[in-house]
Amino acid sequence: MTARFAIVGSGPSGMYAVDALLKGVPGSRVDVFDRVPTPFGLIRFGVAPDHYKTRNTARQFARTFELDDVRYLGNVEIGRDLSIIELQDNYDAVVLAIGSYHDRGLGIPGEDLAGVYGACAYVGWYNGHPDYRELDPLLDGAGVAVIGIGNVALDVCRILAKTRDEMRGTDISAHALDAIQAAALEQLYMFGRRGPVEGGFTPKELSEVLELERCAVIVDPGQLPDSVEGDLETRIKGVKEKNLALLRQLAAQDKPDKQIKMTVGFYAAPVEILGDRRVEALRMERTRIVDGRAVGSGEFFEVPCCSVVTAIGYQALPPDGVPMNGSVVANQRGHVADNLYVVGWAKRGPTGTIPTNGPDSRDTVEVLIDNLESTGKPGGGAIDKLLAERGVRVVDYAGYKKISAAEIARAPEGHPQEKFTRIDEMLALLDGA
Ligand code: NAP
Repeated sequence: MTARFAIVGSGPSGMYAVDALLKGVPGSRVDVFDRVPTPFGLIRFGVAPDHYKTRNTARQFARTFELDDVRYLGNVEIGRDLSIIELQDNYDAVVLAIGSYHDRGLGIPGEDLAGVYGACAYVGWYNGHPDYRELDPLLDGAGVAVIGIGNVALDVCRILAKTRDEMRGTDISAHALDAIQAAALEQLYMFGRRGPVEGGFTPKELSEVLELERCAVIVDPGQLPDSVEGDLETRIKGVKEKNLALLRQLAAQDKPDKQIKMTVGFYAAPVEILGDRRVEALRMERTRIVDGRAVGSGEFFEVPCCSVVTAIGYQALPPDGVPMNGSVVANQRGHVADNLYVVGWAKRGPTGTIPTNGPDSRDTVEVLIDNLESTGKPGGGAIDKLLAERGVRVVDYAGYKKISAAEIARAPEGHPQEKFTRIDEMLALLDGA
């Protein structure tokens, strides 16, 4: 039998799942859906623009799309253009690789004020995601506060801190680069409710803020412990020790008169965002750690800022009818229900780097193959018919390659590409307009 599979989402976890299916079920056919015209999800929209080389991971996935048995169906949203049930009815198995595409809320007063952004939206804005093209974040004051001390928080601070010159060679979207460079930023805050050892950042990312042209990083040496304590796995302890050494280096640095000061504040949790309609300040409470958790100390302080970016983790937002367990899709080793599976951040939560998704997707595919039965379901042919009946404009891989070539061709001098940020622009290009 020729098995037919649908993958919902063309980011890393989805593409690793395609590879595992092709290897595990030789001769199978795989259709990969994405709701935007361009593939590769987080590689295109999540990786920081100044980590442009990381986007090269997409090359290995691009080779997969060149195979005859793999199709790309971009600009097709499952839940809008097709339902999950329709996929389940037409394919032998369906794999959700939808990532964690929704910002978690802080749950504090003031969160709805203008000027509060989740990192998903903020990163999407500077990375040219069509959903966030018009975000136009408030950057009209001297201060921006970022909540969280993971790599996403560091990414956001670094992109705001770098000069235009430092952003050369990156593929930051021009609208965002112009807005950031026009801002009169003087103060960035990056707040962690716990301490330096608990921070989610990693040494490579932390080392990237050691030498910034116009930004001095301020770390209070009094917040740094003498050593990394606790019962940690050797590798993790090594990472934490490197982090601590880098933080010490930052704390010891001379603070020349740079335009922007980036204060890394530990042991501080947000309690309220203050302002009349828009953000004016952030109220924080100092914390102490009890049994590994941040507990309020009753001591408060405020920082003035024009916007707040929350980089506190994401949650999955699956199409209707898919069961959730907290912030992930409910699953057992990737099995959701019947012939429905899940991989990546939607399965395990937003953790790890791009390669972490390889073993994770292979694990789900192993379960899928164990459960696979011969069904004779029609696969892509029936789905193409449904999409045509509904007037859905599908962008195939050849279409994407055309978009990508045009993005490279229109890159501003010194930048590798200038992404299209509006879907109608991409479709017009394909129509030869
Ligand atoms: P993360 O590392 O889990 O960091 C989330 C941060 O938000 C933590 O500091 C967390 O503090 C804090 N937080 C959560 N809820 C909070 C609340 N209510 N109030 C205040 N703080 C809160 O997640 P991430 O930065 O979003 O990154 C996601 C994954 O992508 C990570 O695995 C990361 O390493 C990866 N990533 C990698 C790269 C790279 O390799 N260059 C770049 C970006 C992202 P607690 O620890 O106290 O909960």
